[in-house]
Amino acid sequence: MNQPNSTVQTPDNPLLADWLAPYGLPPFELARPEYFESAFDLAMAAQRTELDAIANNPERPTFSNTLVALDQCGRLYNRIELLFSNLTYSETSPALQAVQRTMAPRLAAHENAIYMHAALFARVDSLYRQRQQLALAPQDLRLLERVHLDFVRAGARLDGAARQRYGAVVQELAAQCTTFSQNVLADENSFLLELKTESDLAGLPEFVREAMRAAAAQRGLGENSYALTLSPSLTEPFLSFSARRDLREKVWRERSLRGAHEGPTDNRPIAARIMALRQEQAQLLGYASYADYELVDRMAGSTAAVLNLLGQAWEPAKAKAEEGRVTLTAMARSLGEPTPIEAWDWRYLAEKVRAQQFDLDDAELKPYFTLDNMIAAMFDCAQRLFGLHFVEQHGLSLYHPDVRAWEVQRADGTAVGLFLGDNFARPTKRSGAWMSIFRSQSGHQGGTLPIVINNNNFAKASPTLLSFEDVKTLFHEFGHGLHGLLSQVRHERLAGTSVLRDYVELPSQLFENWALEREVLQRHARHFQSGDVLPDTLLDKLHAARRFNQAWATLMYTGPALIDMALHSLPNGTTVDIAAFEAEQCRLLGVPQDIGLRHHLSHFQHLFAGSGYAAGYYVYMWAEVLEADAYQAFSETGNAFDESTARRLLQHIYSAGNSQEPAQAFRNFRGRDPQVEAMLRKRGLLTV
Ligand SMILES: [Zn+2]
Repeated sequence: MNQPNSTVQTPDNPLLADWLAPYGLPPFELARPEYFESAFDLAMAAQRTELDAIANNPERPTFSNTLVALDQCGRLYNRIELLFSNLTYSETSPALQAVQRTMAPRLAAHENAIYMHAALFARVDSLYRQRQQLALAPQDLRLLERVHLDFVRAGARLDGAARQRYGAVVQELAAQCTTFSQNVLADENSFLLELKTESDLAGLPEFVREAMRAAAAQRGLGENSYALTLSPSLTEPFLSFSARRDLREKVWRERSLRGAHEGPTDNRPIAARIMALRQEQAQLLGYASYADYELVDRMAGSTAAVLNLLGQAWEPAKAKAEEGRVTLTAMARSLGEPTPIEAWDWRYLAEKVRAQQFDLDDAELKPYFTLDNMIAAMFDCAQRLFGLHFVEQHGLSLYHPDVRAWEVQRADGTAVGLFLGDNFARPTKRSGAWMSIFRSQSGHQGGTLPIVINNNNFAKASPTLLSFEDVKTLFHEFGHGLHGLLSQVRHERLAGTSVLRDYVELPSQLFENWALEREVLQRHARHFQSGDVLPDTLLDKLHAARRFNQAWATLMYTGPALIDMALHSLPNGTTVDIAAFEAEQCRLLGVPQDIGLRHHLSHFQHLFAGSGYAAGYYVYMWAEVLEADAYQAFSETGNAFDESTARRLLQHIYSAGNSQEPAQAFRNFRGRDPQVEAMLRKRGLLTV
């Protein structure tokens, strides 16, 4: 057995050899944790040598010898880093986690050193200053501006002690964020509620029981055992259906308390430390708050614009939720449940009201939504919109037997990329759903095809049946996947999903719309036993119920988004007590106690597992404005697959990456700026 911290030196390290597997896939079966440290060491050294060569080039700086060279350097490092981070997300282990803790600050230091390379920045900066005289093609100019901004935002203009300190801050941030997300996973894995009697299972439909049997089997519990973990794929349906109020409360509390238990996995002091470091980072870069620093690089541009948008949803949703509360309270009384209702009652009672008002329950729908059929549905949509074909590849060596692979082809058979799907929950995988890449598209040197992966956390069963929410998640991640796969840009820095954070959810959220299209469901939503098509009556009910409980969903999301902005807008130098801050914000905002927050700060991975979504949880609603308005472009033609609209969508959005300023890309697609009304109407917050 290899010890977690032992390392294997080159030349025996398979990660450093050429990757000769089909599609240039990583050698997964050889990618043992102990290889990473030495592979990183060598790859980092190789990249530093490449960077020095660019910086010390005796020729005067040109776009080609500086920007193009920079865009292509670090290939070895990138491929190892992508393999490593994907494995830490999807198939981790104690050994890999140990490597992650060791490497996180060192990788941060490496990336910091790139942007602190004074001679390199001098070349980029000199080109940037003469950018108007260089007669660059639009995409080349965009690259120059983006890369220059990357350097400036990463502290390239700092000197002396500030420069030193900045490096230390980003390294410690990386380490603290790693610990934060490992603690969440540990708390999720340490909770296991075994349900033994029929009374424990009261109210649970067969599909929930089936998923809980699978979870029990995965944990090595005996046959006919039922286990509840903190995976949302189990807790969401449990909270919606369990008639056992005491168990609902227990699960709701455990879920809320992730990262907030005293002891080694307590994330509250870690989040507080992360905030202190971020404030220091903002201070060093000359911003009044961390939010100001982040918003410079967002489509929204300012915290005021974000608060304006969230405010348009928050108060109307609170008013609307009051109507729901009255209905739910009446339902509680009719069921003999106690009132006033609590946060662990809302989903349960809403499900009862939904079943009554719309005569619709998830248990009736799910048999029509098998995972395989819904995968076929999303592929079909991609074919009709963008002409793509998906050909499954068997026999590839991947990192887990549940992962599937498809070669993505254009109509003429040419390859576009490789698409991987890893759809099931397991203890070695982070919760949630996400898209990632093993390799980016690039237009240099004859072009590189992307390898894209989607991760979901569906409860595995035979067959796996999805709720309609799950179907939307599947389509959502596939929208990101297509953004990566369809990318057609020259420079890797601008490829695929490397866009601004509040624009990146546009292609994904937009794609969810096709999951609701009648003709898509009529073609693909078939009962797993009878093969019958989803009946029109059920489809009508599904459509009619679309806006049901949207005020609740809006509040659950918008509350954390507002708290995120408030937290990251604190002036530099403010000490934060995480729990007290959250409680105070809930009071100031008037967060309804019977609704609560989708994420509490102690496990809010968007904010603290890294900095990508810090001061950025709002991005989903921002992109929803773009998405709802964009989908109207199809609705206006009366055809969800309208050819010319789809062509514009491909050209300006799905294939464009970051080659254009996002507001302009949207304008090119839509012919005008986005309007907020479609989003508000979709959430039932605008009646006209
Ligand atoms: Zn997304």
